Parts: sequence; structure tokens; C-alpha cells
Amino acid sequence: MQRNALPYPSEVPLTADQRQRVLDAITTGHLRLDPPTKMYAGFGVGRACDGCGEAIDRTMVEHEVVYENGRDGASSGEVLHLHLGCAGLLDAARRQGVKAYAPGQVGREGAEQ
Ligand SMILES: [Zn+2]
Repeated sequence: MQRNALPYPSEVPLTADQRQRVLDAITTGHLRLDPPTKMYAGFGVGRACDGCGEAIDRTMVEHEVVYENGRDGASSGEVLHLHLGCAGLLDAARRQGVKAYAPGQVGREGAEQ
């Protein structure tokens, strides 16, 4: 895993379906909108993206988004793995002040389709 801070591209290569799934993950609270503690970028290892659910393969840039603080004051943090494009979409949503529909209440886990 390389530890480079990559700038976000102004255009992100996501399909409409991927984009919608990331937005759904944001509005259900699966993806957090608070700023991450650290962010790393490297190539994927085939694991599923926490945003769109599709695999991040070895040809794709994977962003590792680290939150050292848990949600709602929990002490354990969490790490998300996102496509470059999904991370960019999450970052854009954060800057635009998008709100989750039910922050910290329902849909944290298991908010599947
Ligand atoms: Zn993704």
C-alpha cells in the first residue's frame, strides 16, 4: 500500500449504477460524512468497495479511508475501502453538506438493497 495523498479528480469514472449505490450508502449512513483521520491510496486487492459494492481489482486505485474515532463516541474506529471514484463522490458529498437521512440511528449495517 502506497501512502500517497492523491488529489481528487474533478471527474470520476463511475457508472450511473455505482454512483447511485454510493449515494444510497451515504444516505443510509453506511458511509460516514465526517472527515477521515487518514487516507491512503494504492492498488486494489480484489475486495469489495464499501461504497458501490463492486470489487476493486488490481488495476484500480483503492482508497483506504481511516476513521480513528468510532461513530457516536465509540472508541473503536473503522476503515473503509473505496474506489477512487467512490471516494471522490463521498468527498464531494461531504463538501456539499449532504445529510444522511437517519444519522446514527438505523441502517448502519446490513442496509442492503
Ligand atoms: Zn466503489
